Amino acid sequence: MSIEELNLQIYSCKKCRLWEGAKHGVPGEGPVSAQVMLVGQNPGSDEDETGRPFVGRAGKYLTKTLAEYGIKRENVFITNIVKHVSPQNRKPFDDEVKACLPYLITQINVIKPKVIVLLGASAKETPRLEGIEYVQVIHPSAAMRFTNMREKFRQQIAELAKLI
Ligand code: URA
Repeated sequence: MSIEELNLQIYSCKKCRLWEGAKHGVPGEGPVSAQVMLVGQNPGSDEDETGRPFVGRAGKYLTKTLAEYGIKRENVFITNIVKHVSPQNRKPFDDEVKACLPYLITQINVIKPKVIVLLGASAKETPRLEGIEYVQVIHPSAAMRFTNMREKFRQQIAELAKLI
C-alpha cells in the first residue's frame, strides 16, 4: 500500500469513536524516504483544524529544538499513535489505540525508518520492529511547560542528532 492510499483510509476512518468529534484525520507527514520517524500521542486542536501533525505550540517548540541540533523537520516523518483528536485532549483509550495501530504499523513498514523517536510515554505502544532503533524522549509539550524537563529534552535531541 502507498502512503497516499493509507492517508485516504485515515481521512475516512470510523474504526473507533474519535472521528465523531474531529474535523480531520491527521495521518502524519514527511518524506517516504525519511530515516527518522517521530511518534506522538494524538493530534490536538491545531492539528485537527489543519490536518497536519505537530503544528501547535508543542509542535513549533519541537520543530525549533530539532533545528537547533541540525535536524530539519522536512527530513523526518512525524506522526502519532492515534490519528484523530480526542475530547478535551484526553489520553486515547486502549481500544482507540488498538483500532489505530495498524495505520502506524503500515507507515513503519512503508517508510522503514532507521530510528523511531517516541515522544512521551503515550508513544510507548508503538510496536517494536526488528532492525529499527527506538529512542524515548520527553514529550515536547512537557519540555515546553516544565523548565526542569527542558534541559533533559535538549540533551535527548542532541543525542538523537548524533545517532543520525
Ligand atoms: N501532541 C501530540 O502528541 N501530537 C500532535 O500531533 C500534537 C501534539
